[in-house]
Amino acid sequence: MLIEKINAWAELCPERIAHRHREQTLTYAQLKTSSDSMAAWLYDEGERGEIRRGTPIVVYGHKESEMLICFIGCVKAGFPYIPVDSATPPERVRQIIEVSGAWLVLSPQRVPQDLVQTGTMIVDSLVMDQEGNLRCPGADNLSELSFPSTELQVPERNLRTVPACNQEPSPIASPERNSRTVPSCIQEDEVYYIIYTSGSTGVPKGVQITLRALESFLNWVNPAFQPEASNEVFLNQAPFSFDLSVMDLYMSLSTGGTLWSVDKDQIANPKELFASFYSSEISYWVSTPSFAEVCLMDPSFRDTLLPRVKRFLFCGEILTHDCAAKLIQRFPGAKVENLYGPTEATVAVTTLTITPEILSAFNPLPVGEVKPDALVLICDTEELTAGIVAGGGSLPFRPEVLPEGKQGEMIIAGPNVSVGYLNNPEQTEKAFFSWQESGVTWLAYRTGDAGTVKQGLLFYQGRLDFQVKLHGYRIELGEIEENLRQLQVVENAVVLPIERRGKIEYLQAFITTSKPVEDEFTAVLALREGLRQHLPEYMIPRRFKFLDKMPMTPNGKADRRALLGAQS
Ligand code: AMP
Repeated sequence: MLIEKINAWAELCPERIAHRHREQTLTYAQLKTSSDSMAAWLYDEGERGEIRRGTPIVVYGHKESEMLICFIGCVKAGFPYIPVDSATPPERVRQIIEVSGAWLVLSPQRVPQDLVQTGTMIVDSLVMDQEGNLRCPGADNLSELSFPSTELQVPERNLRTVPACNQEPSPIASPERNSRTVPSCIQEDEVYYIIYTSGSTGVPKGVQITLRALESFLNWVNPAFQPEASNEVFLNQAPFSFDLSVMDLYMSLSTGGTLWSVDKDQIANPKELFASFYSSEISYWVSTPSFAEVCLMDPSFRDTLLPRVKRFLFCGEILTHDCAAKLIQRFPGAKVENLYGPTEATVAVTTLTITPEILSAFNPLPVGEVKPDALVLICDTEELTAGIVAGGGSLPFRPEVLPEGKQGEMIIAGPNVSVGYLNNPEQTEKAFFSWQESGVTWLAYRTGDAGTVKQGLLFYQGRLDFQVKLHGYRIELGEIEENLRQLQVVENAVVLPIERRGKIEYLQAFITTSKPVEDEFTAVLALREGLRQHLPEYMIPRRFKFLDKMPMTPNGKADRRALLGAQS
């Protein structure tokens, strides 16, 4: 099992670096001792509060080693974790805490005051010392604040809840030292992590991934991409709140690798980033294609800067022909892999090594072949919907696939498919279904992606709905529209992706208002500010256009085609 593998690296090579972020390092030995002590404390605290096993815990931060300790500690204690990046607006974090029913927020950072109104317990400002003990700095008596390796004690000042109705924070008593019970790790069919993605109804959706699904992913990628045991360095570009990071984090931890994280400030400062690449020893590059494209703009981004890179693993958005060709030319010793998959199917389900032969045969590039224990079926959307509705969420048999070359909706089935959205039966019912085959239940997810099969290879052909990818971020346009409609004066809102040369460049919002807008500049500032309370920066439209009237199609929907014509 995954956790046993990670623990085994602590025995085999305790001093090997499991995680590096700037000056901070975490060894496998430190990861084991501190996650064990955290698990023991969590387990006791859960028992004391009569918290049901499987109730999630939010881990809030940005790339700190302490986040890894929290992830593994939660799992060892039987609680799934929800990674939440600290760049997320507080209001959205609060929403995630509320809709998930999380009982605890753990963080290496000071958690913003805005969050501390949910009534959820918070343990923040966690830092790891040289010995691998977690501490909470800033207390009067330092000895009280350390979390010894066998027993984790949280000082009262770092443990607080705030009741919803403006009362003072009430401290929670520290656990009794003798109350420690042996924690029990997440089992195969239990949820291991929950990742929140954009939701078209205005509320993010929590994708639940079991240990079985995660192991099904790792049992495919590790043999396929062959990282050498305890010898690789994996780039971690995506925040832990995006499922792309699951690939680098767990490929690395399961094979005794070093996870090498870059944070958002480093990414925003290419000079510093490139200087750090030089000494990074990265051998597995895991990122969105967008990030590689930005790096490729600098001619020094080549094998002399990163001489150890063996593989580029891309997922999450279209890998363009141009980007792959440049990488193959600048890194002749490395392989470029195009993986495809959504969060709901645990990171990825298909891959293809992009060779010069593939480059000359295909543009756009295929996304490859499906992992052995899963299926990707190209189905007729309407027929499928009718079948699922008639069957009340399940089909009597495997759905029929369209002939080769025909475009349809990509359906993913297999042990890697999520068990649904947390506390959201309505959206779960829309996106997931199942069927029986030879006594086996196949769980299936409707991706909403259009695709086709040609020459035995799968091709991604865009979306069938209003979900887009912008710079690698998954965005439901409906979520932005819903949040706009909540703002004062907005009557109706439609958000469209504006493309240039086949790629989405930015988002534009089209707005009608309940009263005339006198000063558009001020109105736009107000709309942006209003959205920022709820949505991350990458979801804020770059342009806004005020309309007297929303153009409508004959069947009463906003006419998106007409709006594109009105774009400026
Ligand atoms: P996420 O859940 O953030 O990983 O986003 C999943 C969506 O990203 C998929 O449903 C696709 O629309 C898109 N996607 C993922 N991988 C690829 C790929 N290799 N090529 C094109 N689109 C992709």
